[in-house]
Amino acid sequence: MQADKLEHFRKLLLEQLREHAGHILADQIDALEASDDGVKDSVDLSLMDVNKELAFTLGERESQLVADIDQALLRIKEGTYGRCARCGRDIDERRLEALPTARYDANCQSIIEQANGFATPSL
Ligand SMILES: [Zn+2]
Repeated sequence: MQADKLEHFRKLLLEQLREHAGHILADQIDALEASDDGVKDSVDLSLMDVNKELAFTLGERESQLVADIDQALLRIKEGTYGRCARCGRDIDERRLEALPTARYDANCQSIIEQANGFATPSL
C-alpha cells in the first residue's frame, strides 16, 4: 500500500482510538499524532503496555477495540497493513474505509465466521 494511503488509514485509526479511549490515552495519542515524520517510525509507542489497565477501565468490548486498533497501527508500521492475514491478498480499500482494523478480506472473514458459527461484531 502506498505511503499516503497508509497515512490516511493511520489517521482514521487514531481518530477511532481517540473516540474509544481518548479520555484515558490522550497523552499517548498526542504522542502518536505528533510523530508525523513518515509512517515507519510513527508507531514506536505501542499501546500494548497499557492495554491491561485499559481492560479494567473500559470494559471488555472497548478494550478489545482499542487492542484491535493498536494491532492495526503495528501492521502499518510493519508494512503488512491492508493485507489479508489468512490468504495474503490485498483487502479492498472500501472495506478498510468502513473497518480500518480489518485483518481479513471479506471472503476470508465470512469463511472464518462460518467456521466459528457466529458473526464477529463489527464496528
Ligand atoms: Zn483473505
